[in-house]
Formats: sequence, C-alpha cells, structure tokens
Amino acid sequence: MRDPTGFLGEEYRQLAAADLDWKLRQLEGPSAPRCTIDGHPVLMLCSNNYLGLSNHPRLKEAAIEAVRTRGVGSGSVRPIAGNMDLHVELEKRLARFKGAEASLVFQTGFAANAGLIPQLVGEGDLIVSDELNHGSIIDGVRLARSERAVYRHGDTDDLERVLREAEGRAPAPGRILVITDGVFSMDGDIAPLDRIAAVAADHGAMVYVDDAHGEGVLGEGGRGIVSHYHLPRDRVHVEMGTFSKAFGVVGGHISGSSDLVRFAYNKSRTWLLSGSHPPAVVAACIAAIDVLESEPKHVARLWELTRRFKRAMADLGFDLGSSATPITPVIVGDSATARKLSDRIFELGVFALPIVFPMVAKDKARLRTIMNAALTDDDLEFAIATFRKAGRELRLI
Ligand SMILES: *Cc1c(COP(=O)(O)O)cnc(C)c1O
Repeated sequence: MRDPTGFLGEEYRQLAAADLDWKLRQLEGPSAPRCTIDGHPVLMLCSNNYLGLSNHPRLKEAAIEAVRTRGVGSGSVRPIAGNMDLHVELEKRLARFKGAEASLVFQTGFAANAGLIPQLVGEGDLIVSDELNHGSIIDGVRLARSERAVYRHGDTDDLERVLREAEGRAPAPGRILVITDGVFSMDGDIAPLDRIAAVAADHGAMVYVDDAHGEGVLGEGGRGIVSHYHLPRDRVHVEMGTFSKAFGVVGGHISGSSDLVRFAYNKSRTWLLSGSHPPAVVAACIAAIDVLESEPKHVARLWELTRRFKRAMADLGFDLGSSATPITPVIVGDSATARKLSDRIFELGVFALPIVFPMVAKDKARLRTIMNAALTDDDLEFAIATFRKAGRELRLI
C-alpha cells in the first residue's frame, strides 16, 4: 500500500539537495553578543535582540517575580478567564509609550497580522501591499476576502497609480487598506511612511504599518517609525509591532484608537481563540518598556555602533545596499559565495547567516548582520577585522 506521508521525506530531500533546507543551529546559553553556538564560541551578529534586553536584570527579575506571585500560565484565553491584571497593565503602558489612545497585545506579531488584517477588509474592499512585505503580512492578506494589489517596493508613485486604477474600476473598492513594513527585514531600509500616509489620506485609505524592526530602534527613545517621522497619530491607523525583537521577550501588539482596539479583540480569531501569555512574559514586557523609558543609553549605543560598523564596512569596500538601520546586509552576489563567507566568519568566530535565493534575488545573496547595543568596542573591532580577513581571502574586497 502506498504510504500517504511519502511526500514528507521526498519534499524534504528535494530541499536539501538544492541546499534550501534550514540547518538549525543550537544556541547554548543566553542570546548575548558573546555566545556559544553548536559548541563554538562566537560573536552573535544576527539576533533581533537589538538592545540586549533579553538578558537585562530588570526584565529577568520581573519575570521571576511574576512566576512567584501568579504562576506559570494564565489558565485561559483572554475573553474567558485568562485576562490578568498584568495584561491590562501592559496595554496601558504600551499605549502611553506609543502616545496612542489604546493598545492590544497578541500572542505574537504573526498572530496580530494573521488575525487582524482579514478583519479590516472584506469582500468588495482592497488591500494594497508593498512587494517586499513580511511573510506574516502576506498570510494575513491571503486570509482576507478582499481584492489585493501590490506596489513596487517603497515607491509611492506606484502606490498612487495602483490606488487610482482601483478607483477607476466599476465598482470602485469599498474600504482600502495600505500596508507596509516599517523597516524591511532583509535590506534594513525604512518605508517612506510620511509619503505613504499622505497618498493614503488623498484616497481615503487606512494605513497599517508593521514596525517589528523599528520599535526600540527608530524614533524618540525607540518609540518606532511613527515617532521617527513625527506623524500625527490619526495619519497611521494601525501601528503593529512585536515584543520579540528589540523588546527582548515575545508577543505581538497593535496601537491606535480605542475603536480599533475594541474592534480588534472582538474580531481577531488569533486573539480570541488562543491562550494568553504567561505572567512572566507579560511582566518582562512591562519591564522592557520601563527600561526603554528610563535608560535611553541602549538605543543611543545601538546607533553609535551601527554608524561605526557601517562606516568601517563601507570603507573596506563591502556593498551594504540601501540599509538605514542596524540591519546591515553584506551583499556578496551568488548564494554559494554568501554561504562561503558565512562559514568562514563562523570559523573565525562571528555568527551571521546567509540570506539567499528565493528569499532575495539570485545575484543579491548576502549575510544579514544586525548590530547590537550590548557589543563592547572590542567586539565591534573583532567583527570588522573578521569581515576584513574573510572578505580578502574570498576576494570580495
Ligand atoms: C518578526 C516579524 C514579525 C513577527 O513577529 P513575531 O512577534 O516574532 O511573531 C512580523 N512582522 C515583521 C516585519 C517581522 O520582522
């Protein structure tokens, strides 16, 4: 009899033969700049823990204290019996931090996008999405019953064209949602959210920004992309983000009007039907906001190191693409070269993974580095020296 699961092994072997399978690395100990991966001591240069908060003593203490006072689980989904005082406090603190009327915490950023996007638009409506948006937006868009259109990456003239064409059709779309990443995770460039918001306003469209890589990084004290552009709050209707990156913990969130938040938690199935965060997670997220508000040195250090790293790498002759943030791609050409560079710097003691086709164009394979505020000056020099050595050996510079 034919094995109904035969495709599992077959498809995996095809991926592996094309060298497209994930070879999982094991981190032994905390996610810190000096860490151990697969038994090998390395400098971590590709974590999303931008500010080192996942090891901050105030976050660790808050988590431990929450376990002592409230246990390890919430016991339910939030709409039934799992809405703890800590969840409500976190949302109040986040809204204040963002300068928004209200905030709502989801289990993850992925759950926020997958749960909310398909509720904001329906049949007869339209979503217009940047061509390089994150996979969780793409899945959220696929769950929506609306029409979909894509505009060229970061190109507001093309966005305008797409909106004009849609309005020229009969019947014209009902609601329109324009959606973009704030910082694009493969290139580190910043969406022109000021111009996107202006074009959207001209067409009566809603604006949704996924600021997963902007929070804790951009704007006043790491308040994110809306703060970065000094945009009035009513210009960006959904500001979505995550506690899993610069905040150093885990959890998704949205901020906006009170109407948005009440709508979102009554309608998003990922929120309604999935257990709420354990108290330790929520307490650590509250402590992360405390740290951002009271210790501005982390964001300042992140940018200082980012500027120094980019300048040194550009001086060495590396192609850093269009990055304007701590995400710094080192673009080397084909996939094999990117893999070789990654393997060589790993041997020398630096960890950054290659990003290759199909995640990026065939001739734009890269190592994606992410700067981290917890690096010492010596760590930074070591990272640069390692790229210099490996880059010269492989004749990239
Ligand atoms: C990481 C990321 C997400 C997902 O966030 P999680 O909280 O980790 O699920 C969503 N959008 C973007 C742009 C991201 O980079």
